[in-house]
Amino acid sequence: MKQFSCGDVVPGCSAVFRASSEEQILGAVAEHARRDHGMDSIPAALVSQVRSLIRPAAVEVTSSLA
Ligand SMILES: [Zn+2]
Repeated sequence: MKQFSCGDVVPGCSAVFRASSEEQILGAVAEHARRDHGMDSIPAALVSQVRSLIRPAAVEVTSSLA
């Protein structure tokens, strides 16, 4: 499973996406961005930013490596 937190890109947004592939997450993020952030299309730069922020989803508690 992979995971993406919209808040990593849009401060204050609490939406979190989990899916088995990056493509599924990107699809869900695009839909979310359109509905909740009023973005008709996702710029390529944002797609690559989202891609870089997709992480393996922790099964239980997420622990930071920082
Ligand atoms: Zn969002």
